[in-house]
Amino acid sequence: MAIATINPATGVTEQTFEAHDDAEIERRIVDAVAAQRSLRTTTFAQRADWMRRAADLLEADLDAASRMITVEMGKPIAQSEAEVRKCAKGMRFYADHAEEFLSDHPLDDPSTVGASRAWSRYEPLGVVLAVMPWNYPLWQVVRFIAPALMAGNTGLLKHASNVPQAALYLESLYERAGFPVGAFHSLLIGSGSVRAVLEDPRIKAVTLTGSEPAGRSVASIAGGQIKKAVLELGGSDPFVVMPSADLDAAIATAVTTRVTNNGQSCICGKRFIIHTDVYDEFAKRYSEAMAALVVGDPLDRATQIGPLATASGRDDLAELVDDAIARGATALTGGSVPEGAGWYYPPTVLTDLTDDMRLVMEEAFGPVATLYRVADREEAIRVANQTTFGLSSAVYTQDAEDEDWFVTNLDAGAVFINGMSVSYPELPFGGIKASGYGRELAAEGIREFCNLKTVWKS
Ligand code: NAP
Repeated sequence: MAIATINPATGVTEQTFEAHDDAEIERRIVDAVAAQRSLRTTTFAQRADWMRRAADLLEADLDAASRMITVEMGKPIAQSEAEVRKCAKGMRFYADHAEEFLSDHPLDDPSTVGASRAWSRYEPLGVVLAVMPWNYPLWQVVRFIAPALMAGNTGLLKHASNVPQAALYLESLYERAGFPVGAFHSLLIGSGSVRAVLEDPRIKAVTLTGSEPAGRSVASIAGGQIKKAVLELGGSDPFVVMPSADLDAAIATAVTTRVTNNGQSCICGKRFIIHTDVYDEFAKRYSEAMAALVVGDPLDRATQIGPLATASGRDDLAELVDDAIARGATALTGGSVPEGAGWYYPPTVLTDLTDDMRLVMEEAFGPVATLYRVADREEAIRVANQTTFGLSSAVYTQDAEDEDWFVTNLDAGAVFINGMSVSYPELPFGGIKASGYGRELAAEGIREFCNLKTVWKS
């Protein structure tokens, strides 16, 4: 895939970039190793100063950075602005908390292990490779690199080939903030070059956010090298609505969760599992609300849904919907590719899903909602847990017993009750099953790329 900015709203190539050759990749690895040696001897306070400065610089760039995101991948401009602000918040969160998260853990009673003292400490692993997706082109990277740098690791980023400007912007941001040159470098390389970089002995670990096939490939390379890996992969999150739910709130949130980021978030609610007592009202009002959304130019503030980020992404989504309709699904709204320039797809609501349709098991990465009518909570759980994914989930209910039951029985990395799944710097984030392993964010995220060193003293 060419490394280029292609505006998804127009299909016009705005800028192309030369891929780094072997010599440039080598130079960047050498820089990353040298920067890590120097960074690991700096104090938390010094790194926190640089991190806060990066947050300040990013906020000062709000307009230009937001426009860059929207032109590269098509999300509505207000959502790009929210992403920029969230990155600054995430950076400050780790500037404030890294030292506490990585402080030594003394054993309360060392005599039980025959020691005068025993404790564990967290140490950085070294240079970490990050393979990242385009859907949150700044946030996905920041949630890796902010904790990595605060822990004393350095990062090499292989960003998605369609967001090279975001990759280069972040590299310059951390340099401007004061981090040593090489603390965070971008590699402008295609996915075919990831293996050679990851097999390099100077790279100590890898984190990948992206699709299941990319995750399988990178995990197998990391496994072969016995290197730590964190995988944040796809999701087909269930959104359950029970009879006791506040239906107005459930419908409004069900719209927002399905179309945020033009429907291209791993934790979008994608499958709506509705109790039969409220199904008919939900389906009618939900499809009307989806149909009323404004689709258009993502730089126009009136727009609620912009284009999909890539032509292939739109083709994949259209294929999934076409397959379902050909096998008997009903489109309450949307369901076909519109005429005209740009990679648009309309908000779509499908019912009458059957198990032979690909959409039932596969992830719809765009504004396509599937509705399932269920008789009781047991059936809701069966449908919710039937995919191979297990990223996040949401439940609308006012019944305390139902609430507890769903929290216990949903196979997912997170459950949101009476709200939609969102990533917060303060909360651990990650999935189970084919959605990956490991955690980002919170204390767990910064500890993933540390050596937990046990010390025993006689
Ligand atoms: P993708 O095709 O897997 O690409 C993600 C990154 O992996 C890109 O940098 C891509 O490079 C690279 N890549 C692709 N195939 C690779 C391979 N075989 N070996 C090494 N690197 C490879 O995913 P996407 O379509 O851009 O993103 C959408 C997917 O990401 C969805 O499934 C979504 O659910 C998931 N996602 C998950 C999370 C999470 O936190 N769990 C967050 C966001 C997105 P190129 O661009 O050069 O191909």
